[in-house]
Amino acid sequence: MKTNSEYDAIIIGAGPAGCSAAAVLAEKGRKALVLEREVFPRYRVGESLIPFTFQPLERIGMISKMRASHFTKKYSVTFVQPNGRASEPFYFHTRYDRDTVAQTWQVLRSEFDTMLRDNAVEKGAEVAEGVSVKELVREGDAVVGVRGEKRGGEPFEVRAPITLDCSGKEAFASNRLGWRVGDPYLNKVAVWTYYEGAKREPGIDEGGTTVAFVPEKGWFWYIPQHGDRVSVGVVAEGKYLTRDGVRDPKAIFEREIERNAWIADHLACGRQVGEHYLTSEYSRHSRYGAAPGLLLVGDAFAFLDPVFSSGVMLALKSGVMAGDYVHEGLAQGDLSPSRFAAYGAELREGIENMRKLVYAFYDPGFSFRDLVKKYPELGGEITDCLSGDVNRDYSQLWEKIREFAPLPDDLPYGVPLEPEGHLIAEAEAQEAEAR
Ligand SMILES: Cc1cc2nc3c(=O)[nH]c(=O)nc-3n(C[C@H](O)[C@H](O)[C@H](O)COP(=O)(O)OP(=O)(O)OC[C@H]3O[C@@H](n4cnc5c(N)ncnc54)[C@H](O)[C@@H]3O)c2cc1C
Repeated sequence: MKTNSEYDAIIIGAGPAGCSAAAVLAEKGRKALVLEREVFPRYRVGESLIPFTFQPLERIGMISKMRASHFTKKYSVTFVQPNGRASEPFYFHTRYDRDTVAQTWQVLRSEFDTMLRDNAVEKGAEVAEGVSVKELVREGDAVVGVRGEKRGGEPFEVRAPITLDCSGKEAFASNRLGWRVGDPYLNKVAVWTYYEGAKREPGIDEGGTTVAFVPEKGWFWYIPQHGDRVSVGVVAEGKYLTRDGVRDPKAIFEREIERNAWIADHLACGRQVGEHYLTSEYSRHSRYGAAPGLLLVGDAFAFLDPVFSSGVMLALKSGVMAGDYVHEGLAQGDLSPSRFAAYGAELREGIENMRKLVYAFYDPGFSFRDLVKKYPELGGEITDCLSGDVNRDYSQLWEKIREFAPLPDDLPYGVPLEPEGHLIAEAEAQEAEAR
């Protein structure tokens, strides 16, 4: 890692957002430095891809590598009632080309993210692992680089005209600058683990994702992976999962298995392996998406409840878009926040569409079955949104869903910080006051 200003862009985090942005920038001849706290391969949750990961993966040259990989092929999503009754699978090929977009993958993130990292490096990006970013370096109101620590505690400082915050759930910039805003309703807890030898469906349904309901709008994910492994998790309100004072993740998980007959049946022949993981504090977004010298990408921009597996798609898509916008800004010698207004608006439109469907999903008055029974013509649009085709006009769909459940208004997040810079200082002052 060079310490003087020899980079065009610094990227915090080597997840899907950071690696896709780095790949695009490097391919265009830009000097991109990715700083990653962990050493790969590293564990991550978020293993089920959706069809619209295809376009960003294709753009960064990953499709042939995915096809050559051992990742399980995914063609559909199925919903299962607590009594074990399964819907017909929603096959993506009813709406998209079977040989490209409609076939996606269930991945192991330690392997997938390492492939993304290697891909970025092949294109010329520099990736430094075991390096923690601790602070944004500022001159006046502009971010001009970052400071941090290498493994063993050695400090470093590195500078570039723009820093991309791709730090994921940690949301490095928005947390530090006081821009983070939660979503009071989508505030769930997830507990998950892995099984080997659990039951799999036959044929092309083997790699499908199953969403299996438990009471009070909680749900299991069941994600069949390669190596006879299945990722299984339960998501619900914290007060439901911890009822009667049960707090141990393993005890929470095991109690819920019994509340869905399909999950109980599929896990009965399997063997649980590894830890039981728990996370809470869910959907959130950043009030600002860009500031002088700073751009937010992937989960660092916004994180949406994972029920429809949209996270990696949004991270890859925003990473590719960020790479293009930054390259263009560098070419024109103008990286002012307003250049990223359309970037933020497009991402926000997509996330808000998905967020409406997530709100409906959790509403006690809503079910996909009832909606499609009343309006069979809407089945296609639902499959489209679930596939990740999120930048479209779904106003007809929302109008009909509103007959069953209230939907939220769009939120004004991810906008550029204007006038340039002032609010960085303001936000920090507010944060200091709160401390
Ligand atoms: C319970 C749960 C289930 C999910 N299931 C799915 C799913 O099935 N499908 C799906 O698509 N998505 C899913 N997601 C979402 C998915 O995990 C994320 O959306 C996705 O990983 C975001 O990618 P990213 O690149 O923005 O961030 P990440 O993948 O989190 O990568 C960020 C990287 O930044 C590094 N980093 C952080 N801070 C620093 C720092 N200060 N210095 C240096 N490096 C740093 C981290 O080590 C990490 O490697 C799920 C999420 C949860 C919580």
